[in-house]
Amino acid sequence: MSCFAQTSILTKKRLFVGLMTGSFAVVCLLFGLIWKISYLGLQELNVHLPLAFGLTLGMVAALLAVGIFCMVAGILGWYVPVFLQKQTYGLMNMLFYGALGIGKLLGIDRRQIEGSFVAVSNQIIRNRHIKIAPDKLLVVTPHCLQLATCPHKITRNPGNCKRCGGCDIGALVTMAEEMGFHFFVVTGGTLARQTVMKIRPQAVVAIACERDLASGIQDVYPIPSVGVLNVRPNGPCYNTHVDLEEFRRAVEEIIILPDTPKKNSSEKKEK
Ligand code: SF4
Repeated sequence: MSCFAQTSILTKKRLFVGLMTGSFAVVCLLFGLIWKISYLGLQELNVHLPLAFGLTLGMVAALLAVGIFCMVAGILGWYVPVFLQKQTYGLMNMLFYGALGIGKLLGIDRRQIEGSFVAVSNQIIRNRHIKIAPDKLLVVTPHCLQLATCPHKITRNPGNCKRCGGCDIGALVTMAEEMGFHFFVVTGGTLARQTVMKIRPQAVVAIACERDLASGIQDVYPIPSVGVLNVRPNGPCYNTHVDLEEFRRAVEEIIILPDTPKKNSSEKKEK
């Protein structure tokens, strides 16, 4: 990856981290306010209660601060203890809507925030070095990736694709067969959720726009979900594409690759 591309990805992630830090500041202010309002009432009940309540709120705030620090550390490539990585992912999902709210107040484009959230989420998952069997991975992509004029119904069964090369679905079906992951084309969030319930994967790789990826990551949490942004040369939701190399890299990072992929793939075809 070029130096320029790396800098641009880092800048993208910074937006979400900045907004998360803003959400954290708001949460701390709210904690302070709640403590102040409840002080007299608590003191009437027991003189030690205000201190105990203050310490509890302080501890929650400290945990949030550690989580945000771990996120920044992970983005910068610093070491984050394994036991904190899962919690960091949880915290990021928890504070997502707070970050969206602050972004809205500051007039920042929602799509930019969602894109930044996906970039941070991908980085945190990458840092967790998750490795699963290929058949525990679910890949979902929206219907708009299929050529609009294609007559074949692939939403229930992507195997109906004739692999004519008219869109990227054919290449994805071939990759699914070769690598062994589950692949589905979904028409919306409901079908995506149903597919996750049916397959019960240990991880998900989703191809979609910023909005759908951000909401999808939230929907399937705590299942780790990697987002690959689609390419939209014809505008949103119409004859979209995906960078197949980027997608392959995302899948290969997460699945346990067989030692001899070509041999296995040809064996599969012979059966
Ligand atoms: S690759 Fe498959 S889904 Fe795409 S146009 Fe051809 S047959 Fe249709």
